Parts: sequence; structure tokens; C-alpha cells
Amino acid sequence: MNTVTMKFGGTSVGSEGAIRNLVGIIQEASTHQRVVVVVSAMSGVTDMLIESVRMAAKGDKWEYTNLSAKLKDKHETVINHMIKPGKDREQLLVAIHKLLAQHIELCQAIQVLGDVTPRIMDAVVSLGERLSSPMIAAILRQNGVNAQAIDASKFLITDDTFQSAHPNWDASQANVDANLVPLLDNGVVPVITGFIGGTRDGVYTTLGRGGSDFSGAIFAALVKSDEVIIWTDVDGVMTTDPRIDPRAKVLPYLSYTEVGEMAFYGAKVLHPKTVQPVINLGIPIYVRNTFNPTHPGTRIGKEQHPSEGIIKAVTSIRNISMLTVSGSGMLGVPGIAGRAFLATAKAGASILMISQASSEQSFCYTVTDNQADVVKQAVEMELAQEIAQNNVDGITLTKDIVILTVVGAGMRGTPGVAGRVFTVMGNNTINVLAIAQGSSECSISFIIPESDIKRAVIALHELALSANGH
Ligand code: ADP
Ligand code: ASP
Ligand code: MG
Repeated sequence: MNTVTMKFGGTSVGSEGAIRNLVGIIQEASTHQRVVVVVSAMSGVTDMLIESVRMAAKGDKWEYTNLSAKLKDKHETVINHMIKPGKDREQLLVAIHKLLAQHIELCQAIQVLGDVTPRIMDAVVSLGERLSSPMIAAILRQNGVNAQAIDASKFLITDDTFQSAHPNWDASQANVDANLVPLLDNGVVPVITGFIGGTRDGVYTTLGRGGSDFSGAIFAALVKSDEVIIWTDVDGVMTTDPRIDPRAKVLPYLSYTEVGEMAFYGAKVLHPKTVQPVINLGIPIYVRNTFNPTHPGTRIGKEQHPSEGIIKAVTSIRNISMLTVSGSGMLGVPGIAGRAFLATAKAGASILMISQASSEQSFCYTVTDNQADVVKQAVEMELAQEIAQNNVDGITLTKDIVILTVVGAGMRGTPGVAGRVFTVMGNNTINVLAIAQGSSECSISFIIPESDIKRAVIALHELALSANGH
């Protein structure tokens, strides 16, 4: 029998209407396939939990208690409307109250400490999915589906990089084979908490914001699913963020590499790591709309299908700063870039894009705004000697910039793509500060001033729309 893994995002479990659609989708699918369900927290819940931590660290008991009460109300309203009075409902309410009592206890501990560690942060934010999964499982049972809530921390074993944990594949596979596959064989529909995992010692970890997509793909790989469906609130992966340009169109097909680049360079619709677990197994991913379930959505697979116009989609990342390291004395001095990147990594920042002029007299790279000052200091310290000797003139920081990326298979091998993009930028008087081509041959990124973002996305999106024949 076919196995399908279905991940439902925050909005897809965020209202009674959405949950009714979810129930219909799972009822239908479970008549003829094995179904694994992965759920996010209800929309807004993770943000509320993070806010409660902030309030607790500030000592604002009134605010975090208030937020906890709002979380209780949000879940109870759905439960009372969607589950008949009876044992299942009572047990569920007890479980929910227990989790919310833990929330208050954790906030109290943070208040006492006056500080929050990444480990405590994960204990708190994991509550969102731990609240939604038993609720969705109970609603499914109410509607005739043999569903069972599953806490992912018992199956998905990770390292202890709190807030962005990495899966331990072998340990997770062993757990899934021993305890999850037998459930599927018995006709159970597991409703697994997305976003969270656990260390070998049973401590909660999370995979990073938006990480439920990654969870969906991880479980799909572990149970050897035939497909993964990411159910969300748009019809599929689109030519650009529909909130920036409402003309955005759904792309019927994308390769893993294309969608990986889009996600890495800012398309929020999928977590950047989503393709990793399934790429080698060749498991197709579909992105579909819970609110419009008859739409076929986007299929994501192995084959590259270059489009005639090459540019398929445009994405952007905001809140970026660019560091430029320059100096005529750098010419031929080996290792300066390497040392700068290492110092950047040691400062805890990841680099999104690198660009080097062929003269080797300067190179630039980007980090997020909130890390920029720390990184600049770290690199200045690392290169202090070269700066003192005037081999490096210094490090300049340019704030208020964005990374704009055009994505499409076959980009690097096709002459003129960058030129075409530059022409569009020039015609719209947008100043391109740097350019870099993705190693995947699927993307080209540009750094432009933040103030130009909307004009640039709209202008480049026109290229994508015409290229896709819309
Ligand atoms: P979920 O809660 O289901 O995980 P997200 O809010 O994380 O949903 O992601 C879906 C949202 O991503 C859409 O509502 C849309 O606004 C945004 N988005 C950004 N870029 C794109 C894109 N290229 N295609 C589709 N959606 C996009
Ligand atoms: N609930 C988590 C978040 O909001 C994970 C997810 O929704 O994918 O980041
Ligand atoms: Mg998401």
C-alpha cells in the first residue's frame, strides 16, 4: 500500500474551518493509503510562546500569564466546538491544561533566572506543537479516523544544538522502525508534532523557525513514504511572494535544487532544509492548499526542466548587511578571505552570499543585520595585522540592503541571464551593489538597497511571468 506523509502548517490547523478541511483531506487519503500526519502549532502560537519568554525574562508576570490564558482559550474554543463531550474530550483537556501549567512553570523559572538559555527556549516553544498534535488527533478520531498523537521527541533524535538541532539519522531510523512503522501497519494514522525533536537524554529541541516542513520531510524519509504533501495556505510554490506582488502564479513543477535555492534565499513557503531528507530517495514533494484542496499545487522532483526564459521565480531576503573587505595589498595574499569567513563563523553568523571581484582587491559577503556589528569587530580583530600594515584598508559595513535572487534551472550555463537582469535593474534605476551565482547553477543573487526592493521584485517578476508564459 502507498504511504503518504502530510504536513499541515500553522494556518492549516489554525481555525475550525481549516481543521474541517484537514479532516476531509485525511479521511479521504486514509481510505486507500497509509497516512502519516505532521502538524505545526496553531498559527500565532509559536510567536506567542516566544513573546511569553521575553516577558518572563523581563519579569512581567502579568503579560506571560495573560499569554498563557490566551493559549488556553485558543485551544479550548476549538476543542469545545469540534469534540463532543465525553471521555476523549476530558482526557484531552487534562493533557492541554498540564502542558499550559508547564508553560507557566517554565516562565516562572525564566523570571527567577532573569535570563533564558536556548535549552529553556526550546522547552517553551515546543509546547505549540505539543498542544496542537493531541488536539488534531482527537478531532480526527471524532471523525472516524484511527488517529494517535505522537510526540516527535521520542522518535526524532537530534544533537543538542538547541533552536536549530540536527537529526541523528541512525538513532531516529531505529526508533521509527521499532515503534512507528508497526503503528502504520496496524492502520493507525500518527499525528506527529512538527518542528521538535529530542536529544538522546529526552531533552526537547527544535529544528528552527518554520521547521515543521523539515519534520515532514524527515518523517517521510524515515517511513519510506511514496510522497510528501506540504499543506499550506497558498496554491503552491509561486513565481514570487504573493504578498509582495499579487500577480504571482503557481509553478506546476520545480526541481529539488530550484526549490532549495528559493527557500534558502527567502521564499517562506518551505523551510530551506525540507528537500535534504528526501532528495536522495527521490520522494516527490507536493505543495498544496488546505483551503483549495482540488488545486493540484506544485510538484517537486529530481528532474530539471529549464524553462524557455530560464527565470522561474524571484525571492528576496530583508534585514541583511554587507561586509566589504578591501585593500590593494590583498592582491595575491592567500587566506585573507578564509580567515574572515572563519572569524565570521566563530562569531556565530552564517554567510548567505559571497562575491569577489576578479582583481582580488576586495570581496564582500552578507550576514543578518543583528549580527553585523559583532561580525565586523571579529573580522577587524582577525585581520588587525594586515590592517596595521595597510594590506587591508579596512572593513566597511553597508546596512539596509536586501538579497534578491532569481531562480531557474540551467541559469549558469545560459549566457545573458545576468545581463538581462542588469538591464531590467538599470531601466528601473536600481543600484546593484554586488552579484553572485549559486554553485547549483540554479540561481543568481544580487545585493540592492532595501529601499528598492519592491520595485526590483516587481520588475524582475515580470521577466519570470513572461518566461513562464503567463
Ligand atoms: P505554513 O504555516 O503552512 O508553514 P508559511 O506561512 O510558513 O505557511 O508559508 C506560506 C506563505 O509563504 C504563504 O502564505 C506566502 O505568503 C509565503 N510565500 C513567500 N514566498 C512564496 C512563494 N514564492 N510561493 C508561495 N508562497 C510564498
Ligand atoms: N511552529 C513553528 C514555527 O512557527 C514551526 C512551523 O510552523 O513550521 O516556526
Ligand atoms: Mg512554514
